[in-house]
Amino acid sequence: MKKLIPTLILGTMATLNSEAVVDKNFNYHVDRFADIEVLRYEVPEYDRLSLNQKKMLYYLSQAAQMGRDILWDQNGKYNLQIRQLLEKIYTDYSGDRNSKEFKAFEKYLKQVWFGNGIHHHYSTDKFTPEFSRAFFEAEVGKIADKDLPLAKGETREQMMTTLIPVIFDPAVMAKRVNQDGTQDVVATSASNLYGDGVTQAEVEAFYAAMKNPNDDTPVSYGLNAKVVKENGKLKEEKYHLNGLYGPAIAEIIYWLDMAKNVAENDAQKAYITKLIDYYITGDLRLFDEYSILWAEDTKSDIDFVNGFIESYGDPLGMTGSWESYVNFKNTASSERTEKISSNAQWFEDRSPVDPRFRKDKVKGVSAKVITAAMLAGDAFPSTAIGINLPNSNWIRAQHGSKSVTLENITEAYDMASHGNGFNEEFVIDEPTKKNLEDYLYITDMLHTDLHECLGHASGRLLPGVDQDALKENGSALEEARADLFALYYVADPKLLELGILDNPDAYQAEYYKYMLNGLMTQLNRIEPGNDIEEAHMRNRQLIAKWVLENGRKKGKGGKDVVELIKKNGKTYVRVNDYPKMRELFGNLLAEIQRIKSEGDYKAGNDLIQKYAVKVDPKIHKEVLDRFSKLDIPPYRGFINPVYTPVYGNDGEITDITITYPENYTEQMLRLSRDYSPLTKK
Ligand code: ZN
Repeated sequence: MKKLIPTLILGTMATLNSEAVVDKNFNYHVDRFADIEVLRYEVPEYDRLSLNQKKMLYYLSQAAQMGRDILWDQNGKYNLQIRQLLEKIYTDYSGDRNSKEFKAFEKYLKQVWFGNGIHHHYSTDKFTPEFSRAFFEAEVGKIADKDLPLAKGETREQMMTTLIPVIFDPAVMAKRVNQDGTQDVVATSASNLYGDGVTQAEVEAFYAAMKNPNDDTPVSYGLNAKVVKENGKLKEEKYHLNGLYGPAIAEIIYWLDMAKNVAENDAQKAYITKLIDYYITGDLRLFDEYSILWAEDTKSDIDFVNGFIESYGDPLGMTGSWESYVNFKNTASSERTEKISSNAQWFEDRSPVDPRFRKDKVKGVSAKVITAAMLAGDAFPSTAIGINLPNSNWIRAQHGSKSVTLENITEAYDMASHGNGFNEEFVIDEPTKKNLEDYLYITDMLHTDLHECLGHASGRLLPGVDQDALKENGSALEEARADLFALYYVADPKLLELGILDNPDAYQAEYYKYMLNGLMTQLNRIEPGNDIEEAHMRNRQLIAKWVLENGRKKGKGGKDVVELIKKNGKTYVRVNDYPKMRELFGNLLAEIQRIKSEGDYKAGNDLIQKYAVKVDPKIHKEVLDRFSKLDIPPYRGFINPVYTPVYGNDGEITDITITYPENYTEQMLRLSRDYSPLTKK
């Protein structure tokens, strides 16, 4: 599971924690187009790593980048072909690069790079090209046959007949992940996780037949496979060395093997070996064995994720999108999360849910703060700020999970937002603004820690309840559960006792931001007229609207706990009773935990439909108008640093340098050139 950056973007950096090593002159800003800003992140403390650790980081970074094409293909079956074509046009173009047509083309290409395909990374809506079909046809016409990215046996004409509607017709492959439960979500999603002609009912029946209800250590069915129809029957095309994506997986294995040879310790060596075995065979039992070894290694300094992990890209929530994170420990800040995780049982025992749904023993909730060193696949350019893995419920229950906070990424967001005018526009009054300036950075980090280390790890299913019982609402409700756990405890005096916070009112910064975001500002990410689709956004609106409605007249003096008020024609969030708000978060947590523990699909679906999906059109329009005056991009992502080996006279690596030399386009073109095992001719 992953936690994304909240939409509220700080207008301050005054609260950056003092342990952070931040270079004030570092240039965070890289590019800006459409609804996107591209940043770069710093890798503080890189120089503290030993040569061996730097080598390991480098090899893992290579393994990370080698998987890029896999995700592109998972996201849509024409994505790689389209990328090659667009890049060829872009680099060969001899006309006026400032012309309107070319500028529009360049914008589209930048969007496609950011989406790892022709759909928006977040809304999953297809991008709308603003250049003409005539321009596109003319430019493709200039490319020699031998340089065209033709599929096997395909002619130029056939390619164009296929791609023109895919790029230009809004009705064709309109959405990558369709979660509208009234439709066949498999047949209507444009992602490439299911073959042509496969329906949702068929996939559900296919896996239902495969699952053994008495297996209490089930593998994650469908995690590493495309389901296709052959002679009217479904079958899995597995992702492994000799299967689908073999050429990319071969490169990943090569670099993982290099990393294994410089591993920090035997535990790390053991799980890398297991991961390689899994990549060779595609055997999900091996993946579980790897996941257990990985979750249990809390000693290593360098760490990574590399594989088919999160299933947000699958409308049925089964197949993992390929991703990689390479990182090392931020020792100073990890003390904070270690304090939290070492008290996991204390929090679990007092959580406001029915004791039947609590865990008697919260196992091995490990938590650390890390410095991201390489982001790839589904974690690039848009990345999470916190991750908690493995996702398998029984592994989490029996062996624990590992939870990390990517502090240098959060820092980069914060630094890049300095003085953007957000607080001035949306925050109700000076005292609230002051509280946000003083405490939002730390309480937001804490919210992430609590969400990842404790929230997802807390609670249990009643015996016999299917972990997929909440179906298409499973992700949003799970995120809500973790967020509510975090919201409830970020206000707990225990955090003062642990020495993590120094002011009992600090949590109010996070509460205010959460409500503002859930009720108003996250709508900046939604196109007018659309519903909310994405799981994290549904979760936030669900919580905020539920608290708004259920807090009516329940605050001190009979006031609303929280309300939307008008001031000078603008809408503001006003919180009248913070302690009562905490109570409400606890109540909703209890209900959502009950829904999960009992597998109560109906109650979960009612909550989602009532609070999470529909947008108030008036507020929505107002938010868009107010944002448009601020010029704050709704989405941000990152390019990576560049690691370069330095060789000695004998050909041995003597150092690996880190530099930040590239702009967005340069980095994307380099990746396509050097890390494209699936598109090499
Ligand atoms: Zn989460």
